[in-house]
Amino acid sequence: MPVPFKSGFVSIVGKPNVGKSTLMNRLMGEQLSIITPKAQTTRHRIMGILNSEDYQIVYSDTPGILEPQYALHSAMMTYVKVSLEDADVILLVVELGEKYDALLFERFTRIQTPILLVINKIDQAKGSQVHDKIEHWKEHLPNVTQIITVSARDGVNTKELLDTVVGMMPEHPAYFPKDEFTDRTERFFASEIVREKIFLNYEQEVPYSTEVSITSFKEEEKIIRIRAEIYVERDSQKGIIIGKAGSALKKLGMDARADMENFFQKKIFLETHVKVADDWRKHQNKLKHFGYLE
Ligand code: GDP
Ligand code: MG
Repeated sequence: MPVPFKSGFVSIVGKPNVGKSTLMNRLMGEQLSIITPKAQTTRHRIMGILNSEDYQIVYSDTPGILEPQYALHSAMMTYVKVSLEDADVILLVVELGEKYDALLFERFTRIQTPILLVINKIDQAKGSQVHDKIEHWKEHLPNVTQIITVSARDGVNTKELLDTVVGMMPEHPAYFPKDEFTDRTERFFASEIVREKIFLNYEQEVPYSTEVSITSFKEEEKIIRIRAEIYVERDSQKGIIIGKAGSALKKLGMDARADMENFFQKKIFLETHVKVADDWRKHQNKLKHFGYLE
């Protein structure tokens, strides 16, 4: 007898920097979602579609749960909310050192959707820490279906997590064509790669003040020609992005191009331009332009 096909939505949520994007990439086996050591690098919701003979899992990686401070944050929180409403299973990710915070986690005590609590970064554990943390979370979030400890970075226990998720998927035909692995366009990934390199190459507030728009993406037989516009909030930041005699922008372009060639498996010609868009974070209409609000 054939196994019934399973398909469903899995929402990956948690505080910034706990390893949500690393976990989704690990579960997907693809570099879909950008990862950096800085908080709040994931601004959009990103879907990762994992296809197999017997199932299709639709993951969504979300920005971290936080209190809205700027208009951008409110838009980010809308993605988290929508993602929870769609979900068949919630992967609530916490990192090893983290403690229960009523302000952030209270909402999960009232939710009907099954929750897998994932304690990540167990590669950093000392002594009885993993055991103690499991007890801590059991006490504060007694309604979770299961607690699973993993190291997303090293791939410890992530196969077991995947099996558990598959076991919880409802019987349902595939939601998306089986050759699709994301709902995002190639342009989106190109802009995410540039954005990741900005987070890795610049300090302090500059990355948080930056947005990237891909204004041209032309795929030819042997090469993809990409034009990226980098928007900053102030003239001074434009100077920082460009650097002395253009050296910083040159390095940014080289780093981004190397990753794009790996991601698209093709030679890339990347052109970068830096522009000033005053206070884009605070202005809803500019957020719309950059695609944060639908
Ligand atoms: P997100 O903000 O929740 O999406 O977190 P990211 O996936 O971007 O990861 C934030 C940081 O935590 C990055 O520096 C990751 O390399 C790191 N990280 C993620 N998973 C692990 C893990 O299992 N162990 C350790 N030690 N670090 C991890
Ligand atoms: Mg992330």
